[in-house]
Amino acid sequence: LPEPGVTALTGPDVADRLPKPEPESNKYRRGVVGVVAGSDRFTGAAVLTVGGAVRAGAGLVRFASAAEPVRYVRARWPEAITTILAPGEGVSEVGRVQAWVLGPGMGTDDDAHALARSVLRSDVPVLVDADGLTLAARDPSLLRRDAPTLLTPHAGELGRLLDVPSGEIEARRLHYARRAAEELGVTVLLKGSTTLVAEEGRPVRVNLTGTPWLATGGTGDVLAGIAGAFLAGGLSCYDAASCAAYVHGLAARAAAGDPRTGEAPIAALDVALELPGALRA
Ligand code: AMP
Ligand code: MG
Repeated sequence: LPEPGVTALTGPDVADRLPKPEPESNKYRRGVVGVVAGSDRFTGAAVLTVGGAVRAGAGLVRFASAAEPVRYVRARWPEAITTILAPGEGVSEVGRVQAWVLGPGMGTDDDAHALARSVLRSDVPVLVDADGLTLAARDPSLLRRDAPTLLTPHAGELGRLLDVPSGEIEARRLHYARRAAEELGVTVLLKGSTTLVAEEGRPVRVNLTGTPWLATGGTGDVLAGIAGAFLAGGLSCYDAASCAAYVHGLAARAAAGDPRTGEAPIAALDVALELPGALRA
């Protein structure tokens, strides 16, 4: 580990923290996660985010978006309950959830902004990723809220949030992950060659299970879905983020066909499909 104040979770640490169904559980108590992702231009992000949540063990996934992403999600994940939102409409009619995942592929226009605001107004934890982060960089008031917030940026997205060049973020990842967590009052999962999870007053957790083959389109969307399922299952932002990074890395190695090295191309949907095996391991 690079320095004091930085720790890593082990497999047994993760296994201890993961939400597991009690004998008397039902789907609502296990955790309902709301996903707001995708747009008529970006349907794949919606499918991948919902897939991460479904395969990571959410009790129920509620998906709300434009007509086209809803069509694709229904076709691929019949498990999800879907709501078609009109342009500019918020999530007030979507039903109760224990956590939200906001952002992948949702776009950044005025309607997307209004939708993001309606999600971030809720009193449950919200994970903000991708276009949701771009909207928050443009309008920092979106992140002023009382309930917990988990941001999952890569270096470019964090750079936009902090108004710092992404090369500077890459050169001092630990510093900027901590700084963003403190300044924005959120939990930060900083993606990239190593994944860092920062929260004020806690050691930064580094995840070492990934593989550089994860650097491919859509894998970040799957990660957002996994972490959302864990948030809805009752984990804190800090635990949900670090456990999600851990199992995402294991699932990616399995998707590469070699759980030991993970040295082969990976498709993002395969990462979602490998999640039950990774969770079992
Ligand atoms: P995104 O940036 O949203 O597309 O997400 C990409 C995913 O791949 C994140 O989980 C990153 O942590 C992971 N990733 C990207 N580059 C690398 C790398 N060089 N080594 C390990 N994981 C990576
Ligand atoms: Mg991404």
